[in-house]
Amino acid sequence: MERKGTDLTAQQVWQDLMAGNMRFVQGLFMGRNLLDLRQSLARRQAPKAAVLCCSDSRVPPEIIFDQSLGDLFVVRTAGLVLEPTSIGSLEYAVAHLHVPLLVIKGHECCGAVTAAVNHPEGEEGNIGAILSQIAPAAAQARETRATGRDLVEAATDQHLKNLVGILKQASPIITEALENRRLVLAVTKYFLKNGRVETLLSVDF
Ligand SMILES: [Zn+2]
Repeated sequence: MERKGTDLTAQQVWQDLMAGNMRFVQGLFMGRNLLDLRQSLARRQAPKAAVLCCSDSRVPPEIIFDQSLGDLFVVRTAGLVLEPTSIGSLEYAVAHLHVPLLVIKGHECCGAVTAAVNHPEGEEGNIGAILSQIAPAAAQARETRATGRDLVEAATDQHLKNLVGILKQASPIITEALENRRLVLAVTKYFLKNGRVETLLSVDF
């Protein structure tokens, strides 16, 4: 019978990702035999975590967590905005690949959040659809009276926290997995200069 998902617990996966991030920070990447790994993964995948992160070229989760082929099931959209197909992709990882951990990984200096902050009137078309999902967080951040870069970071933090509610409201599959503790959610932010990933909300293992 086919084995379901990873054998690791959410906490073990989290520790593994944090250890990988520390290697990334220090520039000490783990050596891997990708040829053997590619062969062993040809028939099936059992990723240990799903990651929702920005499309920004500077924030690839596989590199930032020093992971390899088959380790992460990744959904990337500008500003981490969620719509049915991206939510469905995360649901697939939870319901069919049985990942024990879902990491929301936002980042410092996000262009999508900056655009949402600078253009409260919105924008036409598909880019406008991205900004409109971030707009409520931008409005909440303005209430803090922060300005400039601080305002963008406050809006980013607020948006990342808001994503939890957006995800739960839109996905009975993910909500049920969280309630039954088959899934743990980690809300994090990546810092471009020092390379660290830090939690924005405490992770409930
Ligand atoms: Zn971004």
